[in-house]
Amino acid sequence: MESSVITQVHKEDVQVSPKAGQVSRSALKQPRSCNLFKALFCCLRAPDGPKHPPPPPPPSQQALLEAQENGALAKLCDAGLLPRVTARDQGKICVVIDLDETLVHSSFKPISNADFIVPVEIEGTTHQVYVLKRPYVDEFLRRMGELFECVLFTASLAKYADPVTDLLDQYSVFRARLFRESCVFHQGCYVKDLSRLGRDLRKTLILDNSPASYIFHPDNAVPVLSWFDDVDDAELLNLLPVFEELSRAENVYTQLDHLRGH
Ligand SMILES: [Mg+2]
Repeated sequence: MESSVITQVHKEDVQVSPKAGQVSRSALKQPRSCNLFKALFCCLRAPDGPKHPPPPPPPSQQALLEAQENGALAKLCDAGLLPRVTARDQGKICVVIDLDETLVHSSFKPISNADFIVPVEIEGTTHQVYVLKRPYVDEFLRRMGELFECVLFTASLAKYADPVTDLLDQYSVFRARLFRESCVFHQGCYVKDLSRLGRDLRKTLILDNSPASYIFHPDNAVPVLSWFDDVDDAELLNLLPVFEELSRAENVYTQLDHLRGH
């Protein structure tokens, strides 16, 4: 059984139901359900929850209040969650990239063709996590690292996500890694509040399979279908031309509007 030990918060069954995006053509397809998935590695909505994300809350003040009440979140840093922009990334757009079901799929169930097997210690016991890489993920990350300041941002726990990223990021694309403690816990989900990064939001994008993750900043999002094991999936490959175009944008809001056909 896939347990919720990685997330350690959500123990109820949940279902993946990403919002179809308009940027990638294949993102318009209906996503597959995944009723086995139990909020293992990141934030997912409950099966009886709304089909679509609730409307964005008022500016992050409400979220910050919840964060304070929650008491398990990273302390706000005046300078933002990210370190200073390095010389090689000056002028580049910052892209926040999700891990689970965006770049990889992981499971406690043995996967015969797993790309990685990562030991994760939970409450004194070592568990094996089997990790599948999404098709074209290597090519995707390599090019993204050339075009953008790339940041890994996952709602999963660092003790799982960090070693997975060590194996996945063979080109050292990620300038920084943010884990669950950097999320805001809002209405039962871990939200990636882009306003806390310390970057110009007009120069910030998020690539994530879960719309709940970017509910505070939907206009910065490039949606991507959740991936589990489809060997024919070409979503990452298909997104590269989109990101090539976005990398030249002065303002991501304007460019994403254009790509969405508005
Ligand atoms: Mg995800």
